Amino acid sequence: MTIKYNTDVAIIGGGIMGCAIAYYVSKAGYDCILIEKGDIASGTSSRCDGNITIVDKDPGYDSKMSLVSQELTIDLAKELDIPFEYRPLGSILVCDNDAEMEAAIDWVNIQNEAGLKFNVLDRSDIKQESPYFADDIPGGLECETDSLINPYLFCYALIDKAKQYGLKLFTQTEVKNITKADSFSIETPNGEFTAKKVINAAGVWAPFIGEMLDVDIPIKPRKGHIMVGARQKPVMMRNVMEFGYLMNKFERERIADPETLEHGVALVLEPTESQNFLLGSSRQFVGYDGRVDINVIRTMARRAMRFFPKMDDFTMIRAYTGFRPWTEDHLPIVSEVNAIPGFYIAAGHEGDGISLATVTGKLIAQMMSDEETIIPVDPLSFERFQKIPSS
Ligand SMILES: Cc1cc2nc3c(=O)[nH]c(=O)nc-3n(C[C@H](O)[C@H](O)[C@H](O)COP(=O)(O)OP(=O)(O)OC[C@H]3O[C@@H](n4cnc5c(N)ncnc54)[C@H](O)[C@@H]3O)c2cc1C
Repeated sequence: MTIKYNTDVAIIGGGIMGCAIAYYVSKAGYDCILIEKGDIASGTSSRCDGNITIVDKDPGYDSKMSLVSQELTIDLAKELDIPFEYRPLGSILVCDNDAEMEAAIDWVNIQNEAGLKFNVLDRSDIKQESPYFADDIPGGLECETDSLINPYLFCYALIDKAKQYGLKLFTQTEVKNITKADSFSIETPNGEFTAKKVINAAGVWAPFIGEMLDVDIPIKPRKGHIMVGARQKPVMMRNVMEFGYLMNKFERERIADPETLEHGVALVLEPTESQNFLLGSSRQFVGYDGRVDINVIRTMARRAMRFFPKMDDFTMIRAYTGFRPWTEDHLPIVSEVNAIPGFYIAAGHEGDGISLATVTGKLIAQMMSDEETIIPVDPLSFERFQKIPSS
């Protein structure tokens, strides 16, 4: 049967962004649909960790945006009917050497000055976190407000509630073309949709949606690998990253062996609620090639052994990859496109999309209603990437 459907708001993409937007926009009373080419959470949002963190954010706008998102997520943990394994345990960063430890102390001071709940951890604090840690780790830091969720469940929980507010969901429906006259016309193999407003929440595929309207969206896929550990003795109760993770993420100079640098490897260990653990991380620009690379896996395992040498006999079940939607200045695009009124972009959250989903959904709903936004949105505008033509 061919669909012919008319709506106020059409969201393209059923990842964590599309689901959060669907929730807030439906709740605000809009007639809203979500169009997804596969299933809910079939893109990056099911191929990632589940950290809602400030610990890895640049102090300032980045960390403020994350804090607001953390606060909104606490509300959702109470409001949504489907539990999504929300665990507000805080998270930690560990240091490899004394130079990193000095940098970590500075980092804590800067974050404290910004009003964020960061603490320095010494050698004995680290030992108390996990008996598996190496003896020579000099210390690290913690962010008290960080939390963990299951992103896959979160997407379904948001959609479940959005449907209660009236959302119509169209999965297995790939957007093939969009045109704009008085309203937008969205073509799919299953039929045509018309909408007054369109939200492009297609993650690393957002540029292809943009092309349909001649909008050049500067987002690139930044590939990451994850290994899944079998359920066994608990390694850690909360998420741990190494300080070098910040250097990789923000493309800052880092001292490490050539393979670690080449594959952008830094330790991330996330205990899931069921006590499997997710071991990362890597960062690479290799287009949309999603194959698991054994060289990257080997480098990640070696890096994990630096911090957890006693884990060398642990069983790993499998590995997978996902694509982080990267932008040049490490902030997402959450914006209406000036040249095409009614066309919004909510994409480009790189390694922060789980952390920033709720604030993004809220912002889109507020922008759509011309309400004052919960945080200023200028730093997130699409127009910041428009080149000023030379005279
Ligand atoms: C290894 C790894 C670890 C990560 N860990 C964390 C973490 O701990 N914390 C954190 O905050 N972030 C993390 N991230 C980042 C986070 O996963 C992403 O930022 C987030 O999932 C992006 O969500 P999204 O909704 O924008 O994109 P996606 O989840 O990719 O959703 C986009 C959707 O659009 C759909 N789509 C595309 N084209 C079309 C079309 N033409 N028609 C219809 N639908 C279409 C796709 O099928 C997809 O479902 C991690 C990422 C990776 C790769």
